[in-house]
Amino acid sequence: ATRSRAHKKCTVIGGSGFLGQHLVQKLLEKGFTVNILDVRKTFDKQGVQFFTADLCSKEDVLPAFQDVSVVFHCASPAPSSDNRELFYKVNYTGTKTIIEACKEAGVQKLVLTSSASVVFEGTDLKNGSEDLPYAEKPIDYYSQTKILQEKEVLRANNPDENFMTVAIRPHGIFGPQDPHLVPVLVQAAKSGKMEFMIGDGKNLVDFTYVDNVVHGLILAAENLHPNSPICGKAYHITNDEPIPF
Ligand code: NAD
Repeated sequence: ATRSRAHKKCTVIGGSGFLGQHLVQKLLEKGFTVNILDVRKTFDKQGVQFFTADLCSKEDVLPAFQDVSVVFHCASPAPSSDNRELFYKVNYTGTKTIIEACKEAGVQKLVLTSSASVVFEGTDLKNGSEDLPYAEKPIDYYSQTKILQEKEVLRANNPDENFMTVAIRPHGIFGPQDPHLVPVLVQAAKSGKMEFMIGDGKNLVDFTYVDNVVHGLILAAENLHPNSPICGKAYHITNDEPIPF
């Protein structure tokens, strides 16, 4: 009984955020009990235990990983922040701390929310596959630290030691409670910044509905076992066709 209870417990790092909250809701519906590790607490829910802590502190992270089989990593400073030091500290150094904490606590699976921007060099990509190399010149420092982060997580994959990792790469995520994408577009439109067109108006961009990202994260976790071909791999996730932006 202890084993199956442990199997049904997971931790969502960044569970107070936009994607994290949707993921937590779905995990609860699927019968998991959920720990949330986040620097802020945005809601209260039955079946959820909050650990209000910075993911960079292993000491504070470890209690949130006890008896947990899966850790979902959905935390990052906002891409719009221009704090390089913070991006490096949280996305890169902090992720290394999470990997160490997973191993110490005996967590078997780590599912990372990466970003499609890790392969974006600034020119249109249509049907870009996972065979694309990491961007040599990422478009911003946020993306650069998402590359460092993803490499670290995938390199840590070690099924022989019963520790398995996988990464899901969405691009722009939209849906209820989105704090980033749509509000920023609306604000830009209101302040008259949408009157200009960059390029020929046929630039492509990829948006994914938040439930599809959640679905991808949960499928990844469910299919991550020692003999699975998804171990140590990254997967793009999208709705369907990219749309003109
Ligand atoms: P969000 O800002 O809504 O949520 C991120 C959460 O992480 C917040 O609740 C924040 O408090 C928490 N957090 C930040 N730093 C932390 C720290 N040091 N310790 C603990 N918690 C910390 O962002 P989101 O849109 O939900 O993004 C989730 C993940 O998805 C991120 O990894 C992001 O890089 C990735 N992603 C998002 C998009 C998008 O369009 N929103 C696209 C691609 C990838």
